[in-house]
Amino acid sequence: MILREEREQVVEYGRKLMEANLTTGTGGNVSVFNREEGYIALSPSGMDYFDVKPEDVVIMTLDGGFVEEDHLVPTTEWGLHLGLYKVRPDASAIVHCHSDYATAVSCLGIDLPAVNYMVAVAGDRVPITPFAVYGTPELAKNVADNIGDYNAVLMANHGQIALGRSMKAAFTVALNVEYVARLYILAKSAGEPVILPKEAIEGTQRQFASYGQTKKR
Ligand SMILES: [Zn+2]
Repeated sequence: MILREEREQVVEYGRKLMEANLTTGTGGNVSVFNREEGYIALSPSGMDYFDVKPEDVVIMTLDGGFVEEDHLVPTTEWGLHLGLYKVRPDASAIVHCHSDYATAVSCLGIDLPAVNYMVAVAGDRVPITPFAVYGTPELAKNVADNIGDYNAVLMANHGQIALGRSMKAAFTVALNVEYVARLYILAKSAGEPVILPKEAIEGTQRQFASYGQTKKR
């Protein structure tokens, strides 16, 4: 089976989307791009995340071709994933989800501002991208045109999409976009939140670079 490891990640992180309350039902989708081999592993369309097995994961090429004859229908947002991989050569995994608070902010038609330093996983804010019907080339274009150097964007009246060098990284971005969006809605309901300046985000990103356990061996 080609891309076994990537298929297993698609299965594992699809389940994590549900477990982390980042999506409802079969909403959302994930992918992993093995750039060395040129193959992308994508969630199948409309399947319960807990039923998906590695052999159900759909393998595509960057130009939209299928690799296996006997494949399932891929996520309706496959064009969105491929479009992002084309404009972001640093990305090897994508998480798209309809998490409640990020989607709520997307319905306000505004960027998610830096109400908390964890927004730095995505950038100095999370930009909003214009609405287009799901699964259309217009939606894929809107997102690809607006991602810039950010690691996530809000998709107006729809949800969020996050990317990273690994599935773990992309998932961490999605999780924190939802966290900051939740803080924004909560703070906004009690008053006018203070927005952090760019320098605070840049300082946070420098701290991220040295975060974690230092190897002693
Ligand atoms: Zn969606």
